[in-house]
Parts: sequence; structure tokens; C-alpha cells
Amino acid sequence: MTTKTNEQAHSRDMAGLLFGDLWGYAPSPESTDHVRYAQRYGHFINGRFVEGKDHFPSINPATEEVIAEFAAADEAEVDQAVQSARAAYAGVWGKMKPAERAKYIYRLGRLIQENARELAILESMDGGKPIKESRDVDLPLVAAHFLYYAGWADKLHYAFPGATVSSIGVAGQVIPWNFPLLMAAWKLAPALAAGNSVVLKPAETTPLTAMKLAELCQEADLPAGVVNIVNGAGRTGAAIVKHPDIDKVAFTGSTEVGKIIQRAIAGTRKRLTLELGGKGANIIFEDAPLDQAVEGIIQGIFFNQGHVCCAGSRLLVQESVAKEVIQKLRLRMESLRVGDPLDKNTDVGAINSRAQLDKIHELVQSGIDEGAHIHQSTCNLPSRGFFFRPTVFTEVSQSHRIAQEEIFGPVLSVLTFRTPDEALKKANNSPYGLSAGIWSDKGSKLFSVAGAIRAGVVWGNTYNQFDPASPFGGYKESGFGREGGLHGLKPYLEVR
Ligand code: NAP
Ligand code: MG
Repeated sequence: MTTKTNEQAHSRDMAGLLFGDLWGYAPSPESTDHVRYAQRYGHFINGRFVEGKDHFPSINPATEEVIAEFAAADEAEVDQAVQSARAAYAGVWGKMKPAERAKYIYRLGRLIQENARELAILESMDGGKPIKESRDVDLPLVAAHFLYYAGWADKLHYAFPGATVSSIGVAGQVIPWNFPLLMAAWKLAPALAAGNSVVLKPAETTPLTAMKLAELCQEADLPAGVVNIVNGAGRTGAAIVKHPDIDKVAFTGSTEVGKIIQRAIAGTRKRLTLELGGKGANIIFEDAPLDQAVEGIIQGIFFNQGHVCCAGSRLLVQESVAKEVIQKLRLRMESLRVGDPLDKNTDVGAINSRAQLDKIHELVQSGIDEGAHIHQSTCNLPSRGFFFRPTVFTEVSQSHRIAQEEIFGPVLSVLTFRTPDEALKKANNSPYGLSAGIWSDKGSKLFSVAGAIRAGVVWGNTYNQFDPASPFGGYKESGFGREGGLHGLKPYLEVR
């Protein structure tokens, strides 16, 4: 919408539908009275919480207050964790009857369900995501991953018919901050089901729920050393990757660090899976149900503040319906409630860290400088904490940085196309290949476009749907290897 007349029409529509603060929701914050956590954490090694050193704070990004302090593991501490994992693998876990292993994994899943409310609150406090997402999406999926993989533990021979399968050994796992517990579940559940022991490092800004998960490992009586969790920053992650007694590295994070890791283990016997960044194309054809598509666009880019590797951050909309879609989208964006992550009505919570907020500001400024048109929601932002307005860019061209680079925030870039072929070419014109969405009334079009998109996950007439039985992973610079489903077991098994 570039002309003045369109802008005026848009303002009229907005005025017609929005009523200032009249229809605002009363505050509905989730109570934090019952959540328990320590002020200081070391590491979880050999079934015990051990003290560490070089503590750093993890803050609540919505208030900028320190929640707790966490130690940063050095090479010697990582070595202790790896030795503990090795001993547990060789002495207990690797030898245990698969049906027995399954019981522990199942018990972990049940304990997560029992503690879901507390875990969801802590996840929102430490990371900034809206409580309705951590409560209704993250935690149910976390539990579901453990329960799903518990089911596979004693059926591995059926999973790969005709082959002999065995565990690998010790897995080193490094995860990001956007879905702290869910990424831990994606890593731990298949590794444990396949009979491996692990050393996991959570992200520096969101280590709290991993420590709570360690408590649940104790409560589940998981044999000491099967799961070890070390806190720390990139240096700790690098020490895990480099450790000579790690058999397999599983990493989820940025493409930049993924490349460093790939170089670091080149020439070693270590196996590797990389789940990296993305710039997902969400394609709206003119025959799509547009109101549903608009909901899908909103869900695709504003879910978890856009801190989603598979976010639908590039909207490709057919020219004939572009005006209508953008108008509906801007109206819908106005009704998103941005603010306190612990408020049950919040749609968009806090940006995870000041560094991430700075990165979003920088990329948004580049969009403005390169000539794209910015549209932002007019909502009030809280005076403290890290927040960013839901933002849409129109008049974006393929060469703009905002069309190429992962912003990892609530910022959508809109491009248009005329034919399915052009949509496909634009969708594939990216160094990434993690996810895509297609919206159309025609099943044949959905399937033919989905088949030609170079992305690991393609959703039809929906977006951001996850299930533990469904494999997830990338093409090109979005990484390799799959997590979830049967495919997710393979990287943790020797299949002969
Ligand atoms: P990141 O900077 O790559 O960090 C990921 C993890 O690696 C963190 O635990 C980090 O520690 C650690 N790390 C940093 N440098 C390291 C090194 N040299 N060696 C080993 N580990 C190192 O990524 P992020 O900013 O946390 O996460 C956002 C990225 O993750 C986005 O690009 C997103 O697309 C991607 N992601 C991908 C998927 C997927 O499944 N494909 C899922 C979620 C997120 P610190 O926390 O201390 O930095
Ligand atoms: Mg934090």
C-alpha cells in the first residue's frame, strides 16, 4: 500500500474497528508465588548438582531483573561431565534392557507433565515468551517428546527393519534460547531412547529450566551420569564439541556457529547433526482462504516474538490479492497484545535479550535505509524490558537484507509474485531451507509446490505445527540431520 489514498482508506478501516483502550483486557498475570528456584546454580554432573565458578546472571528480559546466577563450565568441568557420561554409558545405560530404559524416559515425561505449570512460568520468566505459549505449546510438546521416544526405546529393531542397531556412546548437545526446554527435549529424548548418555549445554540467557529438568532427572531416579548438564557460554559449548571422548555432536543454533562446529570436528570420528537458521517463505496464492491465511501469517511470524528458526519471515503473496492481504494483516496486527509475558492475554512477549533487540533494530533500520516501507503496530510498549513492535515491511525486494537475513524477531518482509513458478523461484532463492508455508484452495497446487520447495518442513494451509512423530530439519545452510520421528533416532544409532 503505497498510495496516499490507500493509506487513508487503511486509517479509516482501523478507526472503524479499533476503540482505543475501551476494549482492553484487565491484567491477568500468572502467579509466580509457587515457583521454586535457587539463586545460584553450578552444573549437574553424575546425578548431582555441583558448584561451579565464573558465575553469570540470567535475567528476566521483561523486567531486566536478575533471576539467578549460573556457573560457566571450563574445559576441566566439561571433562568431568563427559567422563561421568562415559561411565554411565559403559556401566549402566548402554547395557540396560531397552524396556527398562523406556520406563525412565516415560517417567521423565510424566514428571514434566506433573510440573508443567511451574516449568511454563519459569520458561516465560527466563526467556520472555508469553505464558500462553509456554503453557499450551512448549510444555505439552516437551512432555510429548519424552513419551513418544520412550515408546521407541524397546522397538529400535522394528524402526529399521532388516538392520542391526546399536547406540553410539556419549552425545554432546548444545542448544539455543528460543525454546529452551523444547530444544532440550528434542535432544535428550531420542538420544536416551537410543541408549546413549549425554552432556547438554543450555543457552546462556535461558539456563533455568534445564536446571529444573536436572531436578526431574533426580526425581525419576535416572542412573547418575546418564544426563549431565553444564552451564556456560560459547566457550563451554566449544569445549563439549572439542572433547575427544564425545562420539556425537548435536547442535541447534545459528548457521554461523554451526559452521564453526563443523570445522572444529572435521577429520574426527565424531558424528554431527546441525539444526541452524532459516528464512521461511510463507506463500499465499490468490485462491487461498484469505482470513485463515492472515491468521497463519500472524502465527508464522509473531509466535514466540519471531524467535523461531522456522518462522514464516518472508511472506510471498500473489499480486492480485496482495493489497487485501496486507490490509487485513495490518488490522490484525493492531489487535496483538504486546507486553508482560506472564499475562495470560499477552500475544507477543519480550525479546530474549538486549543483544537480540539490538540485532532486530539494526536489521529493521537496514530495511528502512534500503527503501522498504515499514508498518508497525501502534500498541504501547512497557517502559522496562526488551520489547519490539510487531512490524511488517512492504515494497521489499529480493536483494534487501531483510529479505535475505534471518532477523529472528517480530518482523515480516512482504514480497509479491504473479505465477506459481515465480513464487517457487523466490521461495527457493535463499541460502536457507528450513521451512515454508503454502496457502491455496487447490490440493494439487499445495502438493506440487510443496514437492518443489527446498525446505525440510512445508506446511499446507497452516503454519508452525509440531509433533514429535514428525521429522524436522534443514536443507542448505539450515543444516543437516533430522530431529523428531523415526528420522530423529537415526543420528543416535549405529545402523548396520
Ligand atoms: P547461537 O549463538 O549459535 O548459540 C546456540 C548455542 O551455541 C548456545 O548455547 C551458545 O552459547 C552456543 N555457542 C556459541 N558459540 C559456540 C561455539 N563456538 N561452539 C559451541 N557452542 C557455541 O544461536 P542462538 O542465537 O542462541 O540461537 C538462535 C539461532 O538458532 C537462530 O539462528 C535459529 O534459527 C537457530 N535455531 C535453529 C533451530 C532448528 O531446529 N533449525 C531451532 C531453534 C533455533 P551462548 O548461549 O552462550 O551463546
Ligand atoms: Mg534469561
